[in-house]
Amino acid sequence: MENVVIIGSGCAGLTAGIYTARANLNPLVLTGVAPGGLLTTTSIVENYPGFPDGVDGYELMTRLQKQAEKFGARVKFGVVESVDFTKNPFWVTVDGELVVARAVIIASGAGHRHLGLESETLLEKKGVTYCATCDGALPVFRNKPLVVVGGGDSACEEALYLTRFGSVVYLIHRRDTLRASKIMAERVLANPKIKPIWDSVVTDVLDVKQDKVTGVRLKNLKTGAEQTLDCAGVFVAIGHAPNTDIFKGQVELGEHGYVTIKHGSSTSVPGVFVAGDCADSVYRQAITAAGMGCAAAIDAERYLASAS
Ligand code: NAP
Repeated sequence: MENVVIIGSGCAGLTAGIYTARANLNPLVLTGVAPGGLLTTTSIVENYPGFPDGVDGYELMTRLQKQAEKFGARVKFGVVESVDFTKNPFWVTVDGELVVARAVIIASGAGHRHLGLESETLLEKKGVTYCATCDGALPVFRNKPLVVVGGGDSACEEALYLTRFGSVVYLIHRRDTLRASKIMAERVLANPKIKPIWDSVVTDVLDVKQDKVTGVRLKNLKTGAEQTLDCAGVFVAIGHAPNTDIFKGQVELGEHGYVTIKHGSSTSVPGVFVAGDCADSVYRQAITAAGMGCAAAIDAERYLASAS
């Protein structure tokens, strides 16, 4: 039986791995589909303390994993299919295999939010993407007009990154002010290759018949006017939704599916703790996720000490 199983290997999960490993709990970290989490798809992380020149997201996560493993954490590729927290020890089914644990830390992170258009789904990976760092350099996007949807830090980051490849980057935002941090917003607005289109939403991605992205249909929310914009790629960056579907009915989830924190890092189930973006709809930073991972590890350690 495992002392502690950590579900997720982003900043929260791997930091929990470092702390529980150093507490001699021999933790098992299950990576999920995307080892290293969402940060691995970021180009440069400029606000993680200790890196004055920024750090590549993939590199940061690789270092975190090494650090956790150095102290004895076992990081295993695996996708958790279901959990049973109704009895203790807890059951976690990963890739068809049953893992039994005395304590669990949920650090399953968040995934990209979708626009919810049928054409978006049909053209995913055919010009519609959720990650500029992953796909921006593809030949199909080179020297072509590109569209980024959103007005937050992610959208700004994607737009800035895509100026390296596209002929022009249209930033489609549903309001007339960016939600992004001031420094990111200023960079975007000062970049001559980025053309913001305010108060507008994408109502359709074209062209499903051709099986590739050729443009978007836009609607201005203030005037109701519609227009079609030619582009070769649509980069959707409208925020994230927590990866908590498998925990439905097992721990209390709040509005929009975030795991409810009772106190500290405790969930509604004693012995099940939570950390990172799957429980945080407010801060959602790499450093806050890491801090939550640390707290969950300390809480799990104390729980196990008091239970034994
Ligand atoms: P976010 O801050 O929640 O912004 C999402 C954006 O998408 C908002 O502008 C929102 O519009 C828009 N939006 C949401 N649903 C939409 C829809 N259905 N149709 C059209 N637009 C829609 O998400 P984020 O940019 O992914 O950032 C998440 C967190 O990560 C934030 O805390 C951010 O600071 C952080 N982050 C930081 C960095 C960095 O510091 N380098 C980089 C990336 C992310 P409204 O503004 O109208 O709500």
